[in-house]
Amino acid sequence: MSQRPIYLDAQATTPMDERVLEAMLPYFTERFGNPSSNTHVYGWEAGAAVKNAREAIAKIINATPEEIVFTSGATEANNLAIKGVAEAYFNQGKHIITVTTEHRAVLDPCAYLENLGFELTYLPVQSDGLLDLHQLESAIREDTILVSVMAANNEIGVLQPIAEIGSICHNRGVLFHTDAAQAIAKIPLDVVAMNIDLMSLTAHKIYGPKGIGALYVRRRHPRVKLASQIQGGGQERGRRSGTLYTPQIVGFAEALEIGIAEMESESTRLLQLKKQLWSMLETLDGIHLNGNFTQSLPGNLNVSVEGVDGSALLLGLQSVVALSSGSACSSASTAPSHVLTALGRDEKLAHASLRFGIGRFNTSEEIEIVGQQAIATINSLRQTNQLKTTS
Ligand SMILES: *Cc1c(COP(=O)(O)O)cnc(C)c1O
Repeated sequence: MSQRPIYLDAQATTPMDERVLEAMLPYFTERFGNPSSNTHVYGWEAGAAVKNAREAIAKIINATPEEIVFTSGATEANNLAIKGVAEAYFNQGKHIITVTTEHRAVLDPCAYLENLGFELTYLPVQSDGLLDLHQLESAIREDTILVSVMAANNEIGVLQPIAEIGSICHNRGVLFHTDAAQAIAKIPLDVVAMNIDLMSLTAHKIYGPKGIGALYVRRRHPRVKLASQIQGGGQERGRRSGTLYTPQIVGFAEALEIGIAEMESESTRLLQLKKQLWSMLETLDGIHLNGNFTQSLPGNLNVSVEGVDGSALLLGLQSVVALSSGSACSSASTAPSHVLTALGRDEKLAHASLRFGIGRFNTSEEIEIVGQQAIATINSLRQTNQLKTTS
């Protein structure tokens, strides 16, 4: 039997931690009740599990349990935050600010609102992917209602200065939303200290189950108004109807608690692996790091390679390592990554890019294998190209 390739795509999704699965299992079978049923023990035990999970998640980000709205993931949380605020505040203004390198789950709801008559400002980033805070300051207008800036980028791992952005927004009386799908349990996030008003989370990027996430919605200083996007049974204080998915919620909280408990030691370990990989790749000519090596997720390394074709590169690597070029969501399309072009990379280099997503279960031995294979593949593709051009 041939071995499966080494998984190095932690920004697309992560394998579920066995400890998380253990915590979830009873809630699929014997503790199957509807957490909203309050007339019998089946409902009570499911309700208690959801309550405990909600409290645990809230505590980790320094929120209160009432400020957590469970959703199907970060895509839904982003949609609820952006459209929900737009709909609730349009009387006060129709201007929203975001950034060109955001995930499609932010950019597409923004484009949808633009079609409805909202005005959007898409801030550019510097060549290392970081936002220029002076540009943010000067983009805020009288009629600005919301600023949405992601905490960690899913392609290049860059960490935006969230606390600084939060304080700028609060000084100007503008709501601040952050998509923290990639950042939670990787960097400390405190919604009070960082002046965050809305924050999107998801479990499957932190070794939890797919199909569950949350939106943090501030209730004090200021109390954020939000128009619900899914109506029905009135769950989540009317902000998101639908029967709560108990096992996934339990798994989400468990994944988050493990991630936070191990955050410091795991960050150090991942950074070592990233340095190991980069020190191998760096020996090649014509290889460029995308993003900012230090102001970045410890497990993310994104590079562009000169003199090779992007799809040939992925093809040459796929039996050894599972990774992606740009983001998983856009790799079905042939357009180059909007994040890499926003950094100023030309189309060809943007195409010839690799995103290494190192995660909890990767080892130094695996990184060695991947580094060697990447170097061999790049060298051989360059040689073939050379032969083609000289013959
Ligand atoms: C993965 C991801 C999303 C989408 O999250 P889902 O839970 O899969 O809907 C949104 N934003 C960022 C930054 C992501 O990395």
